[in-house]
Amino acid sequence: MKSAKRALVVGGGVIGLTSAFQLARQGWQVTLFDPSPGRGATWAAAGMIAPIAEIHPGEETNYELQKGALQAWRTFASALREVTHKELCIVETGTLVLGWDGSDRRLVDQFAHVAAAFGVIPRRVERDERPEMFEGVSPRIADGLLVGGDAWLDPDAVVALVNEANAQLGVTIVNEMVASVSSDDSRVEAITDSGSFVGDIGVIATGAAAPPSGATTSGAHVIRPVHGITVRVKGIDRSEQPMIRSYVKGNTLYMVSRPGGYNVLGASSEERRDAGAQVGEVQRLLRDALDVVPALETAVIVETREGNRPASHDLRPFFEVLSGGRWAWSSGHFRHGVTLAPIAAGEALRFAESVT
Ligand SMILES: Cc1cc2nc3c(=O)[nH]c(=O)nc-3n(C[C@H](O)[C@H](O)[C@H](O)COP(=O)(O)OP(=O)(O)OC[C@H]3O[C@@H](n4cnc5c(N)ncnc54)[C@H](O)[C@@H]3O)c2cc1C
Repeated sequence: MKSAKRALVVGGGVIGLTSAFQLARQGWQVTLFDPSPGRGATWAAAGMIAPIAEIHPGEETNYELQKGALQAWRTFASALREVTHKELCIVETGTLVLGWDGSDRRLVDQFAHVAAAFGVIPRRVERDERPEMFEGVSPRIADGLLVGGDAWLDPDAVVALVNEANAQLGVTIVNEMVASVSSDDSRVEAITDSGSFVGDIGVIATGAAAPPSGATTSGAHVIRPVHGITVRVKGIDRSEQPMIRSYVKGNTLYMVSRPGGYNVLGASSEERRDAGAQVGEVQRLLRDALDVVPALETAVIVETREGNRPASHDLRPFFEVLSGGRWAWSSGHFRHGVTLAPIAAGEALRFAESVT
């Protein structure tokens, strides 16, 4: 009898976990390595799938890639349902894009121009016309742009459900760092403190961390961490309304409201490697949030989460097959790793099937 094909997955963020799931679902015997799965950048993410509201000039390729993300998530959720008989909640609220003062409103207009260049025409909404959409929003903001098609999910729920599915599919979790990797013509190897693990192929999904030593990359991709925090507060419940994205004194603020009044406020973006949510960083985020949504005044701070977005030099994700052809490196998902996870997982599966 032919033995099961073996895959090693290094890194258990949203990219590694979903890749492990796709492989295991297709009959691969998967071993996943991570000292604390789900606690990297994935832990900090707001969970927006917002290709349109996230449009930035010069990021056309990212937009093209992300356009298919919501459908990819729907398909992925149905695969998870088949295994776990549980539903992954994907909430399609759209996004309300706001500007706080005159110059921020100019940024909203510029956003509309860029969106139009990408073929998307957001609809202008007046507060008088749809007061419920402006619930809690500063009275000085009289209108906004409504972007349909954006959605959110809870990354904690994704991690929990994919972990459950992976357990049912027999994925082995090794709660250790991989120190080094190697390969020859017929197999890959990963070394941890407790020993050596072998497989037929391997996927490195270490987010903003460099691949383990021994991974021979082409040099075409270099990863740098872009630090960010989200602050979670309990208060106003806008979960029936669109997500908010606002320009405020030139900064960008977003608010994702979940049922029960749990709101994710985000996000800072800083080019630094050190860990920790800095006081000034939290203060700026909360100040901007209170300016745009004064109803948050009495909200209670639940927690602050931080993580490092994995940014490539051109801010695009990549899936690089490494020298030797049996290891691949999946990273560079930057601000969009949750959005792009099912697409990245599909790439991991295609790679694995192409090797064997
Ligand atoms: C504040 C913030 C808000 C965000 N909001 C959103 C959002 O709303 N929507 C969206 O789409 N994206 C969002 N992102 C981006 C998203 O979180 C990332 O793109 C995504 O989490 C990257 O996933 P990953 O699996 O590559 O990395 P990570 O989640 O960082 O996971 C990498 C894992 O690899 C492990 N690891 C590293 N080295 C090794 C090793 N040698 N051996 C074993 N394990 C190792 C780490 O422990 C970690 O668990 C946000 C990011 C931040 C910081």
